[in-house]
Amino acid sequence: MAYRLLQWGRQHRGKIFVGVGVGVGGLLLWQLNGRQLPLQTEGFIQAPAWTQNPLPGRDVQLKTLASTKEFDVLVIGGGATGCGVALDAVTRGLSTALVEKYDFSSGTSSRSTKLIHGGVRYLQKAIMGLDLEQYHLVKEALHERANLLQIAPHLSAPLPIMLPVYTWWQVPYYWAGIKAYDLVAGSKCVKPSFILSKSSALEKFPMLKKDKLKAAIVYYDGQHNDARMNIAIALTAARQGACISNHTEVLKLLKEKDVTTGIEQICGATIKDHNTGNVFDVRAKCVINATGPFTDGIRKLDDPKIANICQPSAGVHIILPGYYSPDAMGLLDPATSDGRVIFFLPWENLTIAGTTDSPTGVTHHPAPREKDIQFILKEIENYLSPEVHVRRGDVQAAWSGIRPLVTDPNSKNTQSISRNHVVEVSKSGLVTIAGGKWTTYRSMATDAVDAAVKHCGLSAKRPSGTDGLILDGGYHWTPNHYIKLAQDYGLETDIAKHLSRTYGDNAVKVARMAKVTGKRWPIIAERLVEDLPYIEAEVKYGIEEYACTAVDILARRTRLAFLNVHAAEEALPAILKIMQKELGWSEQRVEQERAEALEMIYVEMGTKAKEGAHTKGITLSAIDIQKYKQRFNIVDRDRKGFITRPDIQKLLQDMNEGLDEDALNDMLKEVDLNQNGKLELDEFLELMSNVKSGQVTRNRLATLLKLGEEQQQQKKNISVDRSGGGV
Ligand SMILES: Cc1cc2nc3c(=O)[nH]c(=O)nc-3n(C[C@H](O)[C@H](O)[C@H](O)COP(=O)(O)OP(=O)(O)OC[C@H]3O[C@@H](n4cnc5c(N)ncnc54)[C@H](O)[C@@H]3O)c2cc1C
Repeated sequence: MAYRLLQWGRQHRGKIFVGVGVGVGGLLLWQLNGRQLPLQTEGFIQAPAWTQNPLPGRDVQLKTLASTKEFDVLVIGGGATGCGVALDAVTRGLSTALVEKYDFSSGTSSRSTKLIHGGVRYLQKAIMGLDLEQYHLVKEALHERANLLQIAPHLSAPLPIMLPVYTWWQVPYYWAGIKAYDLVAGSKCVKPSFILSKSSALEKFPMLKKDKLKAAIVYYDGQHNDARMNIAIALTAARQGACISNHTEVLKLLKEKDVTTGIEQICGATIKDHNTGNVFDVRAKCVINATGPFTDGIRKLDDPKIANICQPSAGVHIILPGYYSPDAMGLLDPATSDGRVIFFLPWENLTIAGTTDSPTGVTHHPAPREKDIQFILKEIENYLSPEVHVRRGDVQAAWSGIRPLVTDPNSKNTQSISRNHVVEVSKSGLVTIAGGKWTTYRSMATDAVDAAVKHCGLSAKRPSGTDGLILDGGYHWTPNHYIKLAQDYGLETDIAKHLSRTYGDNAVKVARMAKVTGKRWPIIAERLVEDLPYIEAEVKYGIEEYACTAVDILARRTRLAFLNVHAAEEALPAILKIMQKELGWSEQRVEQERAEALEMIYVEMGTKAKEGAHTKGITLSAIDIQKYKQRFNIVDRDRKGFITRPDIQKLLQDMNEGLDEDALNDMLKEVDLNQNGKLELDEFLELMSNVKSGQVTRNRLATLLKLGEEQQQQKKNISVDRSGGGV
């Protein structure tokens, strides 16, 4: 047989040669032609009539919720999945309601890595394990990736990601894998991947460590502003007629006996509006549980004895200054020495780095641990040139998200984690949609509504219309939209870009709300903080987008809390002032909002992670911590996160005070608990906590800093340089 094959080969050598040549040439041509996803750049798509529908106010939505006799569908949960379900249902002509306990996207959906991806690692598993199911999952996710990039072009964009390669044998291995990723995407390929030599890789990613680098492979996925995308889905559903309400919690499921079967069927839910405290019943033919990590809580309202399906896992991210990554290139190592994934990606002009994965309990307020922050910093140090000094003080924000991994209750092996999302219909008709990922929210939603239509006997007027449906703000957006905005309204360029990329064609509505500055330039828009493009008008507009609390504005309408905790803290007074005026808040409500916002910044956004790691004894309130941090920052002018002897000397000079070297050393030693020659923020807070509780009656440094603060308040000359300035 082998001999015959050899003979045949010899006879047809020429043809084989040509065939292989044509094949390879074809592949190369395909490469050169660069098949890629056509992204919206023209903006001439005719917007349908619903885009002009005004958003009903929250009070109107609540009235509709309370007064509607029966909805077809009631969705629980306003994350990506729940809002996707509401949008899917409303496009089918089903009367739809959605309730969310906190804010749209307040759960995992605002805490993701922001990647819109098919899953390079999953494809590797599919190929290596010849796993067809895994292959189909990647294929589906790649379709959804393309869809998400097209339906909200203002909120998403392709992102090139570099895989550094450190051994020669890995070059063809990674290349083949990434090419397979492009091939599986087919016409949905974002842009073709390519190989870079070591020198080209360093040109594109200059902060990369040169040692041992052999080459790099660059592939494309998508990236988005996750919370804003979630809100765009919610608003699209609302404009199309869905009745959606945030800060509205499901307390109980309503059931009644089916007359034909005698089985108790779910017919709605008892809900509580957290703004007014009102509790009322909402009736619906079908209730869909889309509560992510809280899935089992709702399933147990239906059947308290049911086994859990959710296995929550926490992932931590940190935000570093933009100089940790190039503007338009991310870096990912899919398999670090201990098998985890490490990445740093540019996002909102900063760098997002992560991640870790560890089993966790379920909470609405997950907090990052110092241990995880340190792990990420240590790992990224391995990839960066020694010139880039990775500093703890550069961490501007850190947060944790809970991955809603689920086991499939319909499968025989109920222990193994499902690779896909799971749709479950309980005996009493509760439809649960869980698992999956952000990228696949739309197909998850379609599967959930299909199940609802089938099991709850709903009569949809049309099939699902979400594939390719442009979201709120996307129709008339083009990449140059910001230029007209800057020209027409007299906005600074960075602000115009930010508004355009956040609100799409709705940005003009925000610009119209902006105050005139009275200056020659810019003509309109007061910033919330000096060096970021967020403006006061966004708070007013945020209220129109259903923001009810200062946290809603800080974390999801703007992304200030996720980007820089100091900036968020600085912006808080202005946000509270505007919200008080717009919403008629009492002084007491303002104080409550201030305390809750500071708690979120300190606990959920990482400020306290470091303090908690070293100082267990701090008994200060959030407001005290804010006050003492400001005092600390008067000396720590370049935001290192610690004070050294020269910092104190500088303060003394400014105050025209003198102190000899020994006295200065003694002063520092008194408070330097870990004796490393620096006074760290947590040590200072512990000192102040002890001073406040009376354990320490007199401390020279504490007195000096207080005097420094008083002098500075008199001068009122603080110019905050937030370079680094970390948590
Ligand atoms: C660290 C991390 C990184 C990730 N990165 C990516 C990524 O880059 N790309 C990607 O595609 N996916 C990513 N994912 C996965 C993705 O973020 C999640 O799969 C997705 O956000 C889950 O959305 P959800 O709507 O199901 O859950 P959630 O967003 O958590 O929404 C559930 C909502 O239900 C509400 N709720 C709970 N109980 C009630 C009640 N009783 N009444 C009313 N409302 C209630 C909650 O308040 C919450 O808002 C990541 C996940 C993690 C943890």
